[in-house]
Amino acid sequence: METKTPIKTQAASASAESAAASEANPWHQAMLQLDRAAQKMKLESFVLERLRHCKRILTVSVPVKMDDGSVRVFEGFRIQHNMDRGPAKGGIRYHPQVSLDEVKALSFWMTMKCAVVNLPYGGAKGGIICDPKKMSKGEIERMTRRYTAEISIIIGPEKDIPAPDVNTNEQIMAWMMDTYSMTVGYSCPGVVTGKPIEVGGSLGRREATGRGVFYVTRELAAREGFDLRKAPVIIQGFGNVGSNAAKIFSDHGCKVVGISDVGGGLYDSKGLDIADILLYREKHDTIAGYSKAEHVDVDAFLELPCEILIPAAMENQITRANAAKIKAKYIVEGANGPTSGEADKILNERGITVLPDILANAGGVTVSYFEWVQDMQSYFWSEKEINARLQEIIIGAFAEVYDLAKKEKVDMRLAAFMVGIRRLGKAASLRGVYP
Ligand code: NAD
Repeated sequence: METKTPIKTQAASASAESAAASEANPWHQAMLQLDRAAQKMKLESFVLERLRHCKRILTVSVPVKMDDGSVRVFEGFRIQHNMDRGPAKGGIRYHPQVSLDEVKALSFWMTMKCAVVNLPYGGAKGGIICDPKKMSKGEIERMTRRYTAEISIIIGPEKDIPAPDVNTNEQIMAWMMDTYSMTVGYSCPGVVTGKPIEVGGSLGRREATGRGVFYVTRELAAREGFDLRKAPVIIQGFGNVGSNAAKIFSDHGCKVVGISDVGGGLYDSKGLDIADILLYREKHDTIAGYSKAEHVDVDAFLELPCEILIPAAMENQITRANAAKIKAKYIVEGANGPTSGEADKILNERGITVLPDILANAGGVTVSYFEWVQDMQSYFWSEKEINARLQEIIIGAFAEVYDLAKKEKVDMRLAAFMVGIRRLGKAASLRGVYP
């Protein structure tokens, strides 16, 4: 798959756009990452071209009867980027800033992620442009059911398996599973993962992404020779990924000194009481009013003093504007696409190690894979078994990427792309996709 043929890169075509607009566009950022890996690997242009295109893009309109009797029509997407290694897999996001380019990028990163940790999946992603914070539970349920019906023509346990992402949760997955099951006429738990246990969910799925973030960070500490319990951690985002990561780091005796959600940040140099903050969030749905820590503005949060920074909110948080001000020595990407290409360059020059999203947050899709396997077999595993298998996969993938990065003298993102692209190229080649 690797030749000496020179290739034309997407970087050239992106140059017409202003740097800031490109930085804010996740698809441009994803393609710049791909180009960088392609250059290093001297990749055949047809391998690169295949990865630059999404296999299937579906846009749907989702009419919803609102509580006041009016009807609103939301725009939704489901994108399958690549299925050369198996059925497509990827979450569903509900957010006002969802866009076609964002979903394309997220589906591409899913392809890479499944290849890096060697799960038998391709990549997909979906989303609806909406603000669920301003919708009632009934409105969200009706929107979810209609969206599921609209995308049911391309999803299915052998085709494409959605999961939760930003602002979607176990309840929403249960509605999706129910709607799809109504369409096919039998109960079909394998169509989505991240479901409640009672309808075919897996033990350990809720915590899996945060747990994977912890495992890769622990491996990094062992390889780089620092004591994780003495390295202050800050975490941006206190949703599924961020709050579970905070709890797991804290349960292992680590010092989480800062956390934030969309309403603001909390900081305590002596370490925050994560268990107490979780109780507070359960009651108030946010951490914003918590009184037993210093409050920090969201914009200044990422620049707080720490050794380990875990962005676990949204993409494009570490950019050319703040990369030089980051104090962390290590960045572990819990979120997808939190660091722009420009920021990556600055961080590299400053000697800051970035554990890339396609490795660092792969714990979620790994346990989603376990959930799907259990659903297909109607045979469920213990939590101990699940965590042990998760640990084995994540540690194995970490070692492969870390060792390649050292061998090739490249950063961990580039090494992870190289691992993933090689697997994808090989699969497509064996299937006879390429000449
Ligand atoms: P979530 O909806 O559960 O939580 C998102 C959190 O981010 C919330 O606490 C929200 O308040 C906060 N947030 C949003 N904007 C913020 C900002 N500007 N500053 C600070 N906080 C902000 O979502 P999630 O499932 O935890 O996903 C978070 C990220 O992790 C996303 O990039 C997602 O794609 C990625 N991810 C999620 C999973 C998963 O299993 N859920 C797996 C892999 C990757």
